[in-house]
Amino acid sequence: MMKAAYLKEKMNIIIRDDRPLPEPDDSQVLIKMEFCGVCGSDVHFYREGKVGDTPAPKDFILGHEAAGTIIKAGKNVSGLNPGDRVALEPGYTCGKCEFCKTGRYNLCPDVQFFAAPPVSGALQEYVVHPADMCFKLPDNVSTEEGALVEPLAVGMHAAAQAGVTLGSSVLILGGGCIGLVTLLAAKARGASNIVVVDLFQKRLDMAKEMGATAVINAESEDVAARVKEVFGDLGADIVFETAGAISTIQQTPYYVKPGGTVCLVGMAAESMVNYNFNQIMMKEVTIKSVFRYRNLYPAAIAAIASGAVNVEQIVTHRFKFEDSDLAFHTAVVHAKDEIKEVIEF
Ligand SMILES: [Zn+2]
Ligand SMILES: [Zn+2]
Repeated sequence: MMKAAYLKEKMNIIIRDDRPLPEPDDSQVLIKMEFCGVCGSDVHFYREGKVGDTPAPKDFILGHEAAGTIIKAGKNVSGLNPGDRVALEPGYTCGKCEFCKTGRYNLCPDVQFFAAPPVSGALQEYVVHPADMCFKLPDNVSTEEGALVEPLAVGMHAAAQAGVTLGSSVLILGGGCIGLVTLLAAKARGASNIVVVDLFQKRLDMAKEMGATAVINAESEDVAARVKEVFGDLGADIVFETAGAISTIQQTPYYVKPGGTVCLVGMAAESMVNYNFNQIMMKEVTIKSVFRYRNLYPAAIAAIASGAVNVEQIVTHRFKFEDSDLAFHTAVVHAKDEIKEVIEF
């Protein structure tokens, strides 16, 4: 038997030593989990017992930002061996549908994804995973960084979707984990002017440290006036919405430059949003959106290894696996002072 962290009910995770050790099939590897990041979607399940209309199943196991060490490989696995440290890409797709066949596997309707019901997450001592979704970490990338490849891939996908390029001016609404990884990715792609807006000063300080050219505190400053001051009357080439709040989604048409791009990254709690489409039409703005990521784990690992991005900076809290409940509790209760919790096994 092995230990796993079960969501018993809202705001309560317990560790039990009652889960059978999984056995890898021929194409899978068995991984001893070492690090797992706490993600916004996990926190939704913890706080509300559901995400959108999807309730957490009984004894649900959270966690999808996972990295660990291979201890056993199925007999058809090549290129990975026991002892290898790997980052686990959490989604496993059918490989056969139109979307998989065109390389856009994040849109596969048959995806199985860690901690997306009914699939269990990675907060267990051992997991089995398809070998082709495990990416070996080079010596100069820590296993903790391996767990952060997942959120980084979201930021990289967002920056690619929005077409950030050398010299782009970028406004990022929301300075939480996803806002900050979007900042890292935009910066690595050569954006010249990157401004982050948030309500919490801690996040803005972090954004500055990570290379934002300016930050705006939405609590104490007039955001519209400051956006004008920084970007000029025309606005920013690219506006990312990463806060997942209706009010920030609604601001995007006003801050984007004519001919520019709005990129929606955060998922709002409400599906219907009042939105000024006339602004979008008159400015001939492109709206892009982001669902997870695709084909990016190797590039994200290479970007960490080369020093092009320093993703470990976003970790503000570290917890032992036994204290998983406290890790989630911190994410809920101390939202003002936290950015990223990582759980270490
Ligand atoms: Zn995540
Ligand atoms: Zn598919």
